[in-house]
Amino acid sequence: MQAEYFTRDLLRAARFAAEKHRDQRRKGIEASPYINHPIEVAELISRVGEVDDLPTLIAAILHDTVEDTETTFEDIENAFGADVCSLVAEMTDDKSLPKAERKRLQVEHSSQVSHRAKLIKIADKTCNVKDVANSPPPDWSVKRRTEYLDWASRVVDGCRGVNEKLERHFDETLARAREVL
Ligand code: NDP
Ligand code: ZN
Repeated sequence: MQAEYFTRDLLRAARFAAEKHRDQRRKGIEASPYINHPIEVAELISRVGEVDDLPTLIAAILHDTVEDTETTFEDIENAFGADVCSLVAEMTDDKSLPKAERKRLQVEHSSQVSHRAKLIKIADKTCNVKDVANSPPPDWSVKRRTEYLDWASRVVDGCRGVNEKLERHFDETLARAREVL
């Protein structure tokens, strides 16, 4: 049986992620607080994708906590239940693998993840493509930024067919990013 989620769980997730990411900054020139990113991802799914499914929005807020902080899947399952935990797992790379292999696996697996995880992946890549265009890590060459856009586009291609508005918004964001570069 699927657990029921409420608005208070979404706010609890925001508080949880803010606490977990509290000492982290994005890699971009502005080094903005890390939490801005998962909030942006969730807000995009809600506003552009017109998705109001709470487990999706909660998992979007939490999507980088296991990958980028000491949070475990057990922590997520205990605090937010199995539905959200399985979505966060679908968003989490295996950090024991080399980075190039992780990137290859994201492309290979993106068509096989759940419908909800595809929504989060499209929004995540949209935000990162925008960041690579507007606030890139300072040491990234144009070549590396271009390679990132190409890779993100391949990951999103595997996720297509779940939300026309989000997919169109990704395409527009990618086109603008290519112009900036
Ligand atoms: P990544 O390419 O994994 O870094 C991008 C990730 O960092 C994003 O997916 C995003 O993930 C996060 N992020 C945080 N802040 C920003 C921001 N401002 N803009 C964009 N992304 C941000 O970098 P790695 O350092 O992990 O590099 C690994 C890969 O890069 C290797 O596979 C290697 O092959 C390649 N590489 C290429 C080089 C080149 O010159 N072409 C040079 C060196 C490496 P999230 O949403 O999870 O936070
Ligand atoms: Zn992310």
